Amino acid sequence: MKILFFSAKPYDKQFFDVYNRPHGFEIEYLETHLGPHIANAVDGQEAVCVFVNDKVNAEVIAILAEKGVKVIALRCAGFNNVDLEAARMHGIRVCRVPEYSPEAVAEHTVAMLLTLVRKTHKAYNRVREQNFSLNGLLGFNLHGKTIGVVGTGKIGGAFCRIMKGFGCKVLAYDLYPNHELQQAGIEYQPLEEVLRSADVISLHCPLNPATHYLINESTLTMMKPGVTLINTSRGGLINTAHAIEALKSKHLANLAIDVYEQEEKLFFKDLSESIIEDDTIQRLMSFPNVLVTAHQAFFTEEALTEIAKVTLQNIDRLLHGQEPEQAGAVLI
Ligand code: NAD
Repeated sequence: MKILFFSAKPYDKQFFDVYNRPHGFEIEYLETHLGPHIANAVDGQEAVCVFVNDKVNAEVIAILAEKGVKVIALRCAGFNNVDLEAARMHGIRVCRVPEYSPEAVAEHTVAMLLTLVRKTHKAYNRVREQNFSLNGLLGFNLHGKTIGVVGTGKIGGAFCRIMKGFGCKVLAYDLYPNHELQQAGIEYQPLEEVLRSADVISLHCPLNPATHYLINESTLTMMKPGVTLINTSRGGLINTAHAIEALKSKHLANLAIDVYEQEEKLFFKDLSESIIEDDTIQRLMSFPNVLVTAHQAFFTEEALTEIAKVTLQNIDRLLHGQEPEQAGAVLI
């Protein structure tokens, strides 16, 4: 049985080749994103394996179906880039890795938060230039601060627990409050209340029509002046133009993003010799109080191991008429 990978990087091959041994799939790795321009590259593969920025829309799915693809396997948790209804119509099964390492993403969120509030990104560069002055590096304690968490699923829940350990007050908003988190001292409030009260707001809900531009001019205005905002979920949760205005007015004091709404043209690529045409990301990166990482939060050994193991198991089971083991792995 054959699988065609899209958006494949050397680290994907490194992990998938190891965990493919018991399965024995014939894997071909393509570096290019999946989209209508390349869907025809499928040649006898029963499964395609895609990542966060592959475009798996109705047009692509129709081509995949014509080519005989039976399974679309996402090697990630989020699935906002797949037209599930089109897959259903064409009888293609779609699976994902719902839980590979929530701690990987939650810990990266904490890393970004600490970097911004203690300015370690600036200190790192400064000390390398033998500048040992502390001027301009004044930070603030997280202990005692109020952290607002939007979306308390696997990643948001892990982040809540870590912030509790820092001695923070944690307020949360989710459509479905989690009783275990409540017992651990996390307080659920309506979204507006969380936005109004928090010193730090971290986004962990999925991107869907209800959450698109959840952070916009109106919700930014609700936030405390001097708020710190972190997004390690999906870029489309934030209206970037509105966030830039809030940064310029200093209402938003710090912004950390691991995801960006136009990221598919930039992230996972080395563009160091290129001219970046996206003025919005250039403007964002010009702020001293904005930290950007390129969709890196998942990128740990533990997470990549789990992603490779579970993705291949999902494909194996679906191609053999069985259901994947992990709850939530099957989308269609
Ligand atoms: P999850 O499904 O376990 O949790 C999502 C939570 O959001 C659920 O509790 C759900 O009830 C809640 N939710 C849904 N709609 C909401 C709304 N309108 N308002 C508030 N809460 C809402 O998912 P997860 O594994 O915790 O992942 C969260 C997101 O993180 C994913 O959707 C994905 O986009 C993103 N992610 C990013 C990376 C990365 O590397 N940066 C890696 C993995 C996942």
